[in-house]
Amino acid sequence: MKLKGKVAVVTGAGQGIGRGIAEVFAHEGADVVINDLTADSRTDEVLNDIQSKGRRAIVVAGDVSQRADVERLFDAAWSEFGAVDVLVNNAGIETIVPFTELTDKQWEDVTNTNLKSEWMCSQSFCKRLIAEGRRGSVINIGSIQAARVLPGRTHYAPSKLAIEALTRNISAEVGVHGIRVNCIHPGLIDTPMIRWVLESPDILPHVVAQISLGRPGLPCEVGSVAAFLASEEAGYVTGQSLYVDGGWVGK
Ligand code: NAD
Repeated sequence: MKLKGKVAVVTGAGQGIGRGIAEVFAHEGADVVINDLTADSRTDEVLNDIQSKGRRAIVVAGDVSQRADVERLFDAAWSEFGAVDVLVNNAGIETIVPFTELTDKQWEDVTNTNLKSEWMCSQSFCKRLIAEGRRGSVINIGSIQAARVLPGRTHYAPSKLAIEALTRNISAEVGVHGIRVNCIHPGLIDTPMIRWVLESPDILPHVVAQISLGRPGLPCEVGSVAAFLASEEAGYVTGQSLYVDGGWVGK
């Protein structure tokens, strides 16, 4: 088990990639703090799944684009588990709006949820680790759209490309404290966020044709890479951004 004895916080873990990461982490021996906007039947399912693997878990509802909720998340995690070893910044939203129609609010909603949240959660987490002299690992979830243009994403794509720079720059400042920071850029992953793509007979074949492996990925396939990056096996890996995309960006 790669993550035996570790505690991980996963944001946006009520469904999709975050859920996949939380479940793989539990399989690899980690206890998990499940964050999402609300505590509901989805987060209960994740909680039950993790507990059925013999691991401990709690749900902490909160909006990670809000500073007060971020601090409350880590206060709750530290209070329940005594410390946290791994943070996965996964929560994100995507909207599709033509550039000339994009509003300030749409820009701010996407940027705050996708980018500001990763900065704030990383800062809160790293400050606590540094104060306690603990090592740790941060994994930021970006997107294939850091490197590929899809229509109507002039707000989403920059928020995801910026996560690469965020990752490199935080890693440079916290490496001396034994904290590693890496980024995963998922490709087309089968989650509720992109169900409309998976269910479209017009769009899906066009997208899949661009993917070397010829299929969408699964949340657990992102989870297993996240588990590697969080583990001691990746102890000399930091500041990196890795595409988990079935060979989309490389084709
Ligand atoms: P999803 O919509 O299925 O799940 C995202 C979860 O995050 C939801 O449960 C949602 O409630 C939660 N969330 C949203 N805003 C939040 C906030 N402010 N605070 C706390 N939780 C919040 O999406 P997904 O496909 O699982 O995507 C997960 C991450 O992966 C996102 O950052 C997304 O941009 C990225 N991504 C997804 C794909 C894909 O193909 N699915 C591809 C590239 C990148």
